[in-house]
Amino acid sequence: MRDRITLACTECKQRNYISSKNKKNNTERIELKKYCKFCKTHTIHRETK
Ligand SMILES: [Zn+2]
Repeated sequence: MRDRITLACTECKQRNYISSKNKKNNTERIELKKYCKFCKTHTIHRETK
């Protein structure tokens, strides 16, 4: 029941991370602060399709 999701930087829109989540437990779009090598800093990464 775990779906694969992509995490994209909200600053430059690059897709930097691939993760997975359980849709039953986490129905909202997740946001994580992660390092973006394109922005060269930590930015908010948001789930995208
Ligand atoms: Zn970025």
